[in-house]
Amino acid sequence: MYDVIIIGGGPSGLTCALYCYRAGKKVLVLEKGMVGGQMTLTTKIENFPSIEKIDGVTLAMQMYEQVSALGVEFKFEEVVSCDLKNNIKAIKTINGLYQSKSVYICTGASSRQLKAIGEKQFIGRGVSYCATCDGALFKNQDVAIVGGGNTSLEDCLYLSNLANKIYLIHRRDEFRGDEILVKRIKDIANSGKIQLVLSSEVVEINGDNKVGEIVVKDKKTNNLQTIKVNAIFVAVGRKPDTEIFEGVEINESGYIVTNEKMQTNIEGVFAGGDVRNTPLRQIVTACGDGAVASASINEYLANLH
Ligand SMILES: Cc1cc2nc3c(=O)[nH]c(=O)nc-3n(C[C@H](O)[C@H](O)[C@H](O)COP(=O)(O)OP(=O)(O)OC[C@H]3O[C@@H](n4cnc5c(N)ncnc54)[C@H](O)[C@@H]3O)c2cc1C
Repeated sequence: MYDVIIIGGGPSGLTCALYCYRAGKKVLVLEKGMVGGQMTLTTKIENFPSIEKIDGVTLAMQMYEQVSALGVEFKFEEVVSCDLKNNIKAIKTINGLYQSKSVYICTGASSRQLKAIGEKQFIGRGVSYCATCDGALFKNQDVAIVGGGNTSLEDCLYLSNLANKIYLIHRRDEFRGDEILVKRIKDIANSGKIQLVLSSEVVEINGDNKVGEIVVKDKKTNNLQTIKVNAIFVAVGRKPDTEIFEGVEINESGYIVTNEKMQTNIEGVFAGGDVRNTPLRQIVTACGDGAVASASINEYLANLH
């Protein structure tokens, strides 16, 4: 029986674990992949206070080593279902069943997919959701980027230093991203390195063993065109990972609803970081939520006794 089970080993979960353990609680962190969560997808973090510049994996390992050196228990298992309504919370993973008096949900968010034919088949073989992670693999090659927000525009600028030619595909006529980024993209587009493919969506991704071409549909005319590319970078937003938390209130966008103490609608269940309704999704805010949640968890556990 744990005092708290933390579901997700990103910055929010690691911070909550640090604070809870230091408050004398028996803590288990369940993580389905690599500790550090989304920050491991970036090579450059320049806005974490006190660290001028760091790559995400190094920051993740620093956070993890600090917490694991204290003695916090980690299990690298995916949580597949939870029974949260009773005082004793039951958390089922692919390997076993764990029980705790409280739960901190910090499963973050993951990339939205296009749902184009062939997309799943070519993940890791030309379909990527992280330009900064995989861009260098396609140096001097032709690539496509899909999306109209800041991430896709930043990806496009990043890849313009690496790729031979970039097709920037967006389903609308106008980009949603910041004006300054749009201007930079349009300036480069004038030189021919970036080709804008607007009011269009990718319907199919083809290739032999890896991506070789994409089929793009013009949404106004329904015409299809085939574009030869070696990679397609998808940046069409992120979605919170909340499907397994039955009974936990979510908002219309799927984010967990909490109050300022990170309490959810269920007693003893707390949530924080990118998975909750919050105006800013960053490492520093995820850590802040984890610290606030630990104070609320300690208060909850004290009242239980
Ligand atoms: C490419 C990229 C660049 C970024 N750059 C910056 C930046 O420069 N500065 C900045 O401040 N922020 C940046 N961010 C945002 C930042 O990474 C996130 O805001 C932060 O990581 C959120 O932390 P979190 O702990 O809430 O969730 P996450 O980091 O998403 O961690 C959630 C963890 O939960 C795990 N998990 C999910 N479901 C389960 C399950 N069922 N069972 C077990 N484990 C599960 C996941 O594997 C993951 O490790 C970036 C994000 C991306 C994608």
